[in-house]
Amino acid sequence: DATLMLSGIEKSYNRGTPGEVSVLRGVDLSVQRGEVVALVAPSGAGKSTLLHIAGLLDVADTGRVEIAGQDLTDLSDTRRTATRRADVGFIYQFHHLLPEFSALENIVLPQLAHGVPRAQAQTRAQDLLDRVGIAARADHRPAALSGGEQQRVAFCRALANEPKLLLADEPTGNLDPETSDQVFAALMDLVRGTGLSALIATHNMELAARMDRQIRLEAGQLIPLGGAQRPA
Ligand code: ADP
Ligand code: ADP
Repeated sequence: DATLMLSGIEKSYNRGTPGEVSVLRGVDLSVQRGEVVALVAPSGAGKSTLLHIAGLLDVADTGRVEIAGQDLTDLSDTRRTATRRADVGFIYQFHHLLPEFSALENIVLPQLAHGVPRAQAQTRAQDLLDRVGIAARADHRPAALSGGEQQRVAFCRALANEPKLLLADEPTGNLDPETSDQVFAALMDLVRGTGLSALIATHNMELAARMDRQIRLEAGQLIPLGGAQRPA
């Protein structure tokens, strides 16, 4: 029961030119329902490329992408965008919150765009903020929040529309070590409470060790690093 399945993914930039860069060279990955996988990769290894292909923001040259059992490889851009919006949540190193809106509104807006009635969206946003421990910050704009609080809001926004798959690129990468630890724990609580599947890129081996499984991206391929043994 895989939420994300990548098979035989290959990706080059500047294909067919002298400047061709082969980034992914046969990536196979399956993330099971409720599984949280750490993606460890040196800078430039192709981590962002892999996350963008898994999240339907970019297209592989060859290989298959399936999300929640749906093969998205040959679907139109419209269908891929619809699946991305419905099923995938993204978190980045920087929060990318809308500066003119409160924390609560930043979590409400994506739900309104998804057709959720405002009252219901507000209740859900407040509940998410509560779960990451910042219910009292609901009415603050991002600039009035600490870095850790901003990331917590970004986590809530990513989960606002109940995605099946969470993709995170260094979610605590811009925080000091102590804050990073606390904010990561909040993220894990949030993810564990929902049965969400997650692929989380990090350079931090201590954080990686707290996930179910660790994989390394090296020379364009994924190498298991140990952790709880699950079907590949
Ligand atoms: P990471 O996220 O691991 O740092 P990226 O996926 O961003 O790596 O990039 C992997 C490699 O592909 C790097 O060598 C990068 O320079 C190259 N690359 C990324 N995007 C492009 C692009 N649009 N055009 C050409 N090369 C690119
Ligand atoms: P919207 O519903 O606002 O149009 P999109 O469907 O464009 O949102 O994007 C869905 C998710 O993908 C958002 O979380 C957004 O941050 C992310 N996203 C969209 N385009 C890119 C991109 N080029 N690079 C990285 N992330 C992106």
